[in-house]
Amino acid sequence: MGKRVMASGVFDIIHVGHIRFLEEAKKLGDELVVVVARDSTAARMKHRPIMHEEMRRQIVEALKVVDMAVLGHEDDMYATVEEIRPDVIALGYDQGFDERVIEEECRRRGLNVKVVRLPKYENGDLDGTRKIIYRIVDRYDELYRNDVKDVLDRCPSCSYSGGFKFFFVGGEVHIHCPSCGWTSRTGWKRGDER
Ligand SMILES: [Zn+2]
Repeated sequence: MGKRVMASGVFDIIHVGHIRFLEEAKKLGDELVVVVARDSTAARMKHRPIMHEEMRRQIVEALKVVDMAVLGHEDDMYATVEEIRPDVIALGYDQGFDERVIEEECRRRGLNVKVVRLPKYENGDLDGTRKIIYRIVDRYDELYRNDVKDVLDRCPSCSYSGGFKFFFVGGEVHIHCPSCGWTSRTGWKRGDER
């Protein structure tokens, strides 16, 4: 019988770091089962995911390196381990578990599991969900900025021309002068095709 590897994570916005991690995890055995964290677990441990759990699970399962992806249990990670019965558990560099503690608890439950800690796989500055989200927010700002230039080049209050900032109130785009603090509504709705 093949060696089963289990890896887990939130996998909110898939990036190269995830792919490297899963590829290295797969190399530890023959079959890779990925446990995707539930929305509630992710919110408790890291941040509220952008995509809901079933979407995240489907995306992970579609990856070539992944044989199966399942949703984790909400409160007992060992219940998931008992169901999957892995030979190896691959941990990411930032997953705050103690390898020995996991091995001990598995043994207590009659499972002989080896826990392997994988290193960090960095690849460019878009690695990491948080960085991607910041980049998107910046880009959004840029999009509106170019649009506003056509109708309003300078701040009507202080004549500043270094570019406006944008913020949202109840889904409506507002404009903000970073120099004098002048603000105004634009009449655009968030997400409008600009
Ligand atoms: Zn101004």
